[in-house]
Amino acid sequence: MAVEPLSESGVKPALPVPEHAAQQLDVCVHCGFCLPACPTFRELGTEADSPRGRIDIMAGVLRGGIPLDEPDVALHLDRCLDCRACESACPSGVRYHELYESVVSHLPARRPWVTGAQTAEGAAFQRGQRFIRFGLRQLLRRPLLLAQAFRLARRLHGLSQRLPGVSALLLGLPETVQCPARGRLPAVLPAVGRRRGEVEVFLGCVQDACCGEDNFQMARALAACGFDVRCRTAQTCCGALHQHVGDRRGVLAAARRNLAAFAGGEAPIVVGAAGCSAVLKEYGTLLADTRWADAGAALAERVRDFSEFVAEQSELPPAMPPAGAPVRVTYHDPCHLCHAQGIRLQPRRLLRSISGLEYVELEEADACCGSAGVYNLLQPELSARVLARKVACLQATGADWVVTANPGCALQLQAGLREAGSSMRVVALSQVLADAYGGDAP
Ligand code: SF4
Ligand code: SF4
Repeated sequence: MAVEPLSESGVKPALPVPEHAAQQLDVCVHCGFCLPACPTFRELGTEADSPRGRIDIMAGVLRGGIPLDEPDVALHLDRCLDCRACESACPSGVRYHELYESVVSHLPARRPWVTGAQTAEGAAFQRGQRFIRFGLRQLLRRPLLLAQAFRLARRLHGLSQRLPGVSALLLGLPETVQCPARGRLPAVLPAVGRRRGEVEVFLGCVQDACCGEDNFQMARALAACGFDVRCRTAQTCCGALHQHVGDRRGVLAAARRNLAAFAGGEAPIVVGAAGCSAVLKEYGTLLADTRWADAGAALAERVRDFSEFVAEQSELPPAMPPAGAPVRVTYHDPCHLCHAQGIRLQPRRLLRSISGLEYVELEEADACCGSAGVYNLLQPELSARVLARKVACLQATGADWVVTANPGCALQLQAGLREAGSSMRVVALSQVLADAYGGDAP
């Protein structure tokens, strides 16, 4: 697709996107430093599948030179993982995701013009995608129902072969769906030993439905560090998965419900899933043009990722070695922790502080694993290629465990390692720290 050059001056958007998003077009100087960091460019080698190429496409759309329903617009934008590796690599400070998420929110869920949609296989793939998007919107607000849906989906695996995207989802599911921490945690889990303060915990939707044990262990670790842990039951999905499918209304609805759920509190809100903490920290920006702007910014100020919060404590309990130590361990950076929040050192420092763990660094540790919200469902082939590269790097470490801090990454890595016949375990950071600090089970 021919892409016209960007204008040097301000762009008058042909679509209603926030000003701060449209401004990113003028920040990009076309240097191309971001290209080697982009997983889809590395796999496909095409300019239109690079950050710079996508910025050019979005410039064309916003300027009105490229129609939004041009097939290649959705083709190349849909292939973006929204991993934000380009932002870490960009010397000019382009906030790519603000532009990208604003533009894709205008792409309709049904895309009959997209290349391949006219074939039987393409039509089946689109049906699978529509099913996933519809199901996500219905289920994300109901975590317990979501957990039930995962269990049911495993049983219906054979039927799912007719829906390619759904089949990919099932491959990524854990062998067993963990019990959600919601309903299992008390309203307040008391601090162990000397009390240092109070925190609230954010449990998320997929995180709690699929990896509820990780939330449970996060609460245990926080209590072991001396904090009363408050769990508010009215909280809901942060909106991250809505954001990944371009559903801005869904994001705003989720944000407003969380503002109500956490109203009146001042304690830090600690989050175990990197995808959730990244979005919660952006509530101020996401709600900027609404009457909830101040409340959104105030909530964002309270949000801490789990590893960020624990690492900033001046005093921590003595870390005990894991049972059966020594264990060789490596760490995979979730994109929304390293690229979106700049949190890289904290989880490594915490892991290195545990005797009995032999820490080994992972090659391309901050490269996306291909999960990217619901990307592995909507782009299964490209996701599998990105995952294969990650699994090869993991196997080269010889590690017994790979530790990570996001449920999407954990499920994706489990699926990739299982497929490769590897015995490497995927372990949540919260589990490692809860065991190391010896927190009592509630
Ligand atoms: S967000 Fe990730 S996949 Fe998308 S353009 Fe940037 S680096 Fe590439
Ligand atoms: S590195 Fe930044 S300025 Fe350079 S092309 Fe990429 S997004 Fe544009």
